[in-house]
Amino acid sequence: MHRLRQLALQILDELLPSVCTLCGTKSSDALCANCYNKYIDLSTSRCTCCAIQLPEFSHSSQCGKCLSHPPAFDLSFAATDYAPPIDHLIQSLKFHAKLPLAKAFARLLSELPASPNSSDLIIAVPLSLARLAERGFNQSLEIARALAHFWKLPLATNVCLRVKHTQTQASLPMNQRRVNMRNAFAVQNSQLIIGKRILLVDDVMTTGHTLNELAHCLKRHGATHVTNVVVARTPNR
Ligand SMILES: [Zn+2]
Ligand SMILES: [Zn+2]
Repeated sequence: MHRLRQLALQILDELLPSVCTLCGTKSSDALCANCYNKYIDLSTSRCTCCAIQLPEFSHSSQCGKCLSHPPAFDLSFAATDYAPPIDHLIQSLKFHAKLPLAKAFARLLSELPASPNSSDLIIAVPLSLARLAERGFNQSLEIARALAHFWKLPLATNVCLRVKHTQTQASLPMNQRRVNMRNAFAVQNSQLIIGKRILLVDDVMTTGHTLNELAHCLKRHGATHVTNVVVARTPNR
């Protein structure tokens, strides 16, 4: 079944016209070189812990919030801010199943200085079974799968589950998002993560509560280090 699914994705990949998703010019990648240079800046100065953009001339490598309340994860890397037109691309992947975008995003992420050499495995933020049934695929897993290929790291798909069908974080006011995520995840195979350094892949990091809850859960089950790798970071929280 797994092989069949991979094959179907590959075929879809080849059938789709090879044009840039943003500007429509001919391109072998989902993002042409022009759009890439225009919208992606991997050299943006970000908080090493939560990947939020740091103010210009910041003397610290971390934002004030991470310094005063360190989250459960150790590091975060984001390719870009969650802003137009990249936000539309992420929505196309998620809500219109434009799966080749997952590979394009993974290629972006593979250029981040996230030191895959010092990581043991990649995990994608899981969806609840209800949301997975509704969407048909997990966009974060599709990105993680391609990234694992680029970085030649094992992808673990059976470590954790999302046991709580939470409301989408975006539909909630900021102060309720943390409560909404509480106990949202469960680890089912802790022997896979004991003593391991984990790269956690997600499409968007908004408040960081989802990733924080998952990192907390992974560490409680023995993971030693958690690094988030996300396509886009919401600029203000
Ligand atoms: Zn383009
Ligand atoms: Zn921070």
